[in-house]
Amino acid sequence: MDLDHLTIKKFHEGLLDKQFSALEAAQAFFARIKASDEAIGAYLSTAEESAAREAEAVDVALAKGDDVPTLAGIPLAIKDCILVKDLPATSASKMLERYVASYDAGAIARLKERRAVFLGKTNMDEFAMGSSTENSAFKKTRNPHDLSRVPGGSSGGSAAAVAAHMAVASLGSDTFGSIRQPSAFCGVVGFKPTYGAVSRSGLIAMTSSMDQIGPITQTVEDAAIMFAAIAGRDPVDATSSETHYDETALTNPDLGGIRRLRIGLPEEYFVDGPDREVGAAMDEAIRRIEGLGLKTKKVSLPHTKYAVPAYYLSMPAEVSSNLARLDGIRYARIPEVDRDAKTLRDIYFKQKGIGFGPETKRRVILGAFVLSSGYYDAYYDRAQRARTLIARDFDRVFEDVDVLMTPVTPTPAFKIGEKTDDPLAMYLSDVFTGPVNLAGLPAISIPVKPYPYPGGGRELPIGFQLIGKKWREADILGLGQYYERI
Ligand code: GLN
Repeated sequence: MDLDHLTIKKFHEGLLDKQFSALEAAQAFFARIKASDEAIGAYLSTAEESAAREAEAVDVALAKGDDVPTLAGIPLAIKDCILVKDLPATSASKMLERYVASYDAGAIARLKERRAVFLGKTNMDEFAMGSSTENSAFKKTRNPHDLSRVPGGSSGGSAAAVAAHMAVASLGSDTFGSIRQPSAFCGVVGFKPTYGAVSRSGLIAMTSSMDQIGPITQTVEDAAIMFAAIAGRDPVDATSSETHYDETALTNPDLGGIRRLRIGLPEEYFVDGPDREVGAAMDEAIRRIEGLGLKTKKVSLPHTKYAVPAYYLSMPAEVSSNLARLDGIRYARIPEVDRDAKTLRDIYFKQKGIGFGPETKRRVILGAFVLSSGYYDAYYDRAQRARTLIARDFDRVFEDVDVLMTPVTPTPAFKIGEKTDDPLAMYLSDVFTGPVNLAGLPAISIPVKPYPYPGGGRELPIGFQLIGKKWREADILGLGQYYERI
């Protein structure tokens, strides 16, 4: 089996043509994981037995002549903060080292209905807090295109798994860029849906007002297939919405309509931000989009500079509230705590002291501070006001254009260790992705050109971002597919 060129689309065709069975495919992917993942470190755990059962069920259905959905048998990798029943879900934290999921996340339930196969759970920054996957309590993931560099984060394992063909596609979560930034660093497609399009049930919460699950794939077409499958209202997530996305419609965009989309280039994303390489890649991507006959124009989002500060005030507030439940009583207890703690207070202190890594502690403490009386108005409340201004900037430009085109990151993948001592430098790698989350918009990261793996040459992958209006995923997925065909 040629795993290196398998998209969801091609896998589905191969399966129907009987080029391989779902079980053979799953086994081939596990063999690849055994061969490659020691060097890359994308997975935290694999699920060979359950994946074999899932794949066999697909083969039985096919043998009976049943119609199967596009996702049937597709080998997927899932970020470790998304619950898959009976598999570990550590969120890359020592806090949850022994936790096994007792139910399926809403998005996973939908993928199971479509008979996808779950290969395992991927490495990430602890509780999705970071931009390099270096905040994992368990191991570092390396960028498949250059093992001395980070894969990005926080969904670094999910992006690396797809880039190195250790899964056909994966799920990540994106709070301020965590799907799009690692996808750009690893040369794959990363898609963050409109806030509320995909259920957050079973996503270990980081910042509930911004978190969103989305696909990481080889192609934009695959992202559309995955998105159509996972989107929709979930009665147990009150922030999820009724949606009507259709796989056939999303993967067959009307090219006439796409060519009429007006593209805005926000000046704040191009001045002083991107480095020379990213700037040159952006010029190339813009030229290609214009070559397709689309009109571009400069626009302005004047409050962009407040996005990172507003996020680093409101996010910790939500983090400190969300992580408070991890007290050592519920969920899994750390073995040392079990052994040494004598009182309830001991359990709380030891579980959190040992369980949370330094970045998590920094944010929990900062969050408790910004919410404390006397400081709430000065920090949390002001951050919420800035958030409103940022959302209004987008509303205003979207009266004039349909889609925004920007860089995803200021630089290509940086070296492992390069930013670990400087949290502020790390935080700034999300300047171009974060505003989208503050405003709840859909956005996609697309490689400027193909970056084949292995043997992709010397170049580091660079991505560009398309930002759409709320609920207009079809625009950016359509334009992305158009781009990818040239
Ligand atoms: N890198 C950002 C952070 O550290 C965003 C993380 C995310 O999107 N989950 O918080």
